[in-house]
Amino acid sequence: MAIATKIASHISKSSWIRRMFEEGERLRREFGDESVYDFTLGNPDVEPPQAFQEELLALARNPLPGMHRYMNNAGYPETRAAVAAKLARDSGIDLTAEHVIMTCGAGGALNVVLKTILNPGEEVIILAPYFVEYKFYIDNHGGVPVPVWTDHQTFQLDIEAIEQAITLKTRAILICSPNNPTGVIYPAESLARLGEVVKKVHKRNGHLIYVISDEPYARIAYDGKQVPNIFPLIESSVIVTSHSKDLALPGERIGYLAANPRMDTVMQFMAGAVFSNRVLGFVNAPALMQRLVTNLQDESVDIAAYQDKRDLLVRELTALGFKMVIPDGAFYLFPQSPLADDVAFVKLAQKHHILLVPGAGFGAPGFFRIAYCVDRAVIERSLPAWAGLAQEAGL
Ligand code: PLP
Repeated sequence: MAIATKIASHISKSSWIRRMFEEGERLRREFGDESVYDFTLGNPDVEPPQAFQEELLALARNPLPGMHRYMNNAGYPETRAAVAAKLARDSGIDLTAEHVIMTCGAGGALNVVLKTILNPGEEVIILAPYFVEYKFYIDNHGGVPVPVWTDHQTFQLDIEAIEQAITLKTRAILICSPNNPTGVIYPAESLARLGEVVKKVHKRNGHLIYVISDEPYARIAYDGKQVPNIFPLIESSVIVTSHSKDLALPGERIGYLAANPRMDTVMQFMAGAVFSNRVLGFVNAPALMQRLVTNLQDESVDIAAYQDKRDLLVRELTALGFKMVIPDGAFYLFPQSPLADDVAFVKLAQKHHILLVPGAGFGAPGFFRIAYCVDRAVIERSLPAWAGLAQEAGL
């Protein structure tokens, strides 16, 4: 075989993604873009905020000498300081540039963290339903993903189940809040309980378990809810995030990781992470984007517009008989599949020109995901198709 057996196997296991994409393309060719309702991708439909365009224009008008050169692998000191200042404000914890590394998106940050901490065969607990790439990222660095379900009714953390899944090989617990695909936010109390669990294990036998908080949706929270900052709640924590969603810049690959200054070994971790960022071939996060996001740490796209789309879909789909947890943030809905077989349901939806992702793709069969980061008009146009789908699915 011309490629590694493992990669060939990963491709074939995720071939449903390609098949869905191809089916979407076929429907678009046959019926036209306007008549196909694509809710598959978490690719924001909105443009970055005006403040981003202004930074971009200002930099283009006044280019800085050397602004396209290599830099310290961790990123520009002023960008890292701006991120640290924002995190210090949010967490109340004294954080500086030395606790921050700029990365190629949250995906890049996750790979850097996992490479830094994992020995071969060590386990990373992931919480179902989980972001589809987690298993591949963990495997990239010789780790073993250990899926643990969240509460089936609420998708909130099941602390007992997590505690039971911890073994001597557990190196990290990977959480995501607001969650992709469920949209739930984990409240401070349950994060604090998780913090107690890892602290207890550490005290018992010196076994350090990192809690990696993947939070690219942290600024997309609804109904006035706040996403609790993890640093005061869990000592051995690392934040990985990006501006892919909050500034609508997924193609620009700009994000960061930040380690909790309260960890005894934080500087050792940071040295490892700077090295990993380098040898994974990222070298450093994109220079231009680092400059642009430096002054945008309090900016975000229009959250009210996302909330409006959530409200519209929740209202209309609930009226049709779909059952779902109402999301607190991000831009996904994760309703129960009306058919026991969620893949069959997604195929049925395609008949109605609605493109969805089956829950099986997130380690959670029996559900399906709607990504509503699409134009409101697409949602409105899709409503009769949803009604037809609900009827055919027996709701
Ligand atoms: N983590 C989660 C939960 C995501 O949903 C995504 C992207 O959709 C990522 C990480 C990767 O984000 P980035 O584009 O910043 O690499």
